[in-house]
Amino acid sequence: MCAMARPTCAHIHTDALRHNLAQARALAPDSRVMAVVKADGYGHGLERVARALEGADAFGVAALSDADRLRAAGLSQPIVLLSGFDEPEDLPQLRRLGVETVVHHVSQIEMLEQAAPGEPVRCWLKVDSGMHRLGFAPEQVREAYARLRAAPAVAEGIVLMNHFASSDEFANPQTRQQMAAFDAATADLDGARSLSNSAAVLGWPDAHAGWIRPGGLLYGISVVEGRTGADFGLRPAMTLSTRLIAVNRVRRGERIGYAATWECPEDMLVGVAAIGYGDGYPRAAPPGTPVLVRGQETQLIGRVSMDLMTIDLRGIDAPAVGDPVELWGPALPVERIAAASATIGYELTCSITRRVRFVEA
Ligand code: PLP
Repeated sequence: MCAMARPTCAHIHTDALRHNLAQARALAPDSRVMAVVKADGYGHGLERVARALEGADAFGVAALSDADRLRAAGLSQPIVLLSGFDEPEDLPQLRRLGVETVVHHVSQIEMLEQAAPGEPVRCWLKVDSGMHRLGFAPEQVREAYARLRAAPAVAEGIVLMNHFASSDEFANPQTRQQMAAFDAATADLDGARSLSNSAAVLGWPDAHAGWIRPGGLLYGISVVEGRTGADFGLRPAMTLSTRLIAVNRVRRGERIGYAATWECPEDMLVGVAAIGYGDGYPRAAPPGTPVLVRGQETQLIGRVSMDLMTIDLRGIDAPAVGDPVELWGPALPVERIAAASATIGYELTCSITRRVRFVEA
């Protein structure tokens, strides 16, 4: 447990990160691994995560500032800017940092064609195979590829990539349709291929290709409905914990917290834990969402407030102020809290705020 006035901590398990990377390699033994570390390593801390995952073949980020941080931390692996660059001024930065970029729009090709002479930039050409977010439509791919090949600012070895919309649904035909559209659009083009996010690494082995791009999997989080990371042999990389700062006896019929949403069905002990939505715990988590007090499972009751939450202590053996409370971690999958809050585990770990103390475990 961390030592400071507010006892709210995110423990980051670097051994779990390494274990999960090894799992990714075991699942896709013929692929190289781009470890996706965007959004501050899914909220786990960019530099800490990247150091733990230094065995990856590349890192995927969403912002040039993240690439800057990785280089400043001494990481020399290839870095790929997953959303691509925005303006001509970004190109000198890409070159200085040795960063590769996704190219998903004709405006980026124009900027590369007009770039000043200098170090060539490696490009990942994004095909929109059906997700309709970023990428060139299948009929535009050959022209985009030819223009990139001809641009002096573009390095040899364009990688061809797409992104799946529904790979977390193992029975959904959309993934196979996207694979077919991607194959048709790129059939006669040279270059490595990259299709798979975490869910495709887990469930679509035909899509592993040259490069896999897992994110959530590395943090031990599953987005497959009803399945936790542990169900796939992964280990959660974050434990979010705090302590009870009050234990109160509340009478039957009294109501707890803002808007008095939860009524005590009997005289009972209610715990108050030092964590709330100001720490990133979801306000949407309803009464009944699981929490652990001294390792024993119980539920939150009432509304989550900014700094505090209230906990049902019935059934907890001799609860006391100072007792450890775990919100998620190896003993309580973040996917359960996400499901209760109508979101995914990624959003929860990404939402942890700065006042939470991060401790490398
Ligand atoms: N590849 C791209 C282009 C992405 O945008 C993302 C994340 O959304 C990933 C890979 C990693 O996805 P996941 O965390 O589900 O593995």
